[in-house]
Amino acid sequence: MKNLYGLLGEKLSHSFSPEIHSEIFKEIGVDGYYHLFNVGNNNLENAVFGAKALKISGLNVTIPYKVEIMKNLDTISREAEKIGAVNTICFDGEKVEGYNTDYYGFGMMLDKFHINLKNKRAFILGTGGAARAVIQYLIDNEIQEINVVSRNKENSKQKFKEIKIIDYKELENIDRGEIIINSTPCGMYPNVNISPISRSTISKFKVAVDLIYNPKETLFLKYAKEEGVKDVNGLYMLIGQAVKSEELWNNIKIDNRIVDKIYEKINSKIN
Ligand code: NAP
Repeated sequence: MKNLYGLLGEKLSHSFSPEIHSEIFKEIGVDGYYHLFNVGNNNLENAVFGAKALKISGLNVTIPYKVEIMKNLDTISREAEKIGAVNTICFDGEKVEGYNTDYYGFGMMLDKFHINLKNKRAFILGTGGAARAVIQYLIDNEIQEINVVSRNKENSKQKFKEIKIIDYKELENIDRGEIIINSTPCGMYPNVNISPISRSTISKFKVAVDLIYNPKETLFLKYAKEEGVKDVNGLYMLIGQAVKSEELWNNIKIDNRIVDKIYEKINSKIN
């Protein structure tokens, strides 16, 4: 009988996760099936109880439940606790454990594309769950300066007490930066004709990272490429977070060559 894994969230029909996990199962020799569980309002706790009772082997969690799920866990890993969001849960007997593998996926993406953080000045667009994972990774990996860009500076200052928050006008007025990371959904399919910031602002950076992977080249990344700024999309991070979840569920270490292989395969299939 197959081991059952899956994703808890809302509006999951466009998710790439079943395909990515099916590729990972083949590579690591697990007889698994990854299901999309659309969980309605007020049913998250029941979903976790059900998963435990049904001996589901592991779950990912996505929008809008990454924070709410934390109430239903017995233990929370260090990175997930600091980020304040969980995207992976493991079942260990009666215990339910939470992790944040977006954090690791982001790091794998930086390594893959040789983006060095040491002594760099980074600007992060957006203040949601993905931005939190990015900020924590940057803090843990010797970034020199972090600036978070928000549409609502005063509100965001309350959420991020020790981080410098600026608004989009201030970002436009900077002289130069090194790394700019889009952690907003701005430019994501189907709204592909928008960029969170202008071409001239992007041109002030050396590296532009977009956490979006659909489309492969957002308008933000198109501007970056045309301006000679190194451009990286979010697909490697997506594969990386999935691989890290599998490592946790199966208590194994997966070679980076497998991550690369799956990345190439999925990358060739999407626009
Ligand atoms: P989220 O919780 O909805 O937060 C996004 C943040 O972006 C908001 O807090 C908001 O910050 C800002 N924002 C929202 N709509 C905007 C708009 N129209 N224009 C400008 N700013 C806007 O989303 P999330 O979970 O953090 O995810 C953000 C993006 O990362 C999504 O595109 C998601 O698909 C992607 N992601 C990718 C991966 C991966 O593995 N590659 C993993 C996780 C997420 P302010 O209100 O402060 O401006």
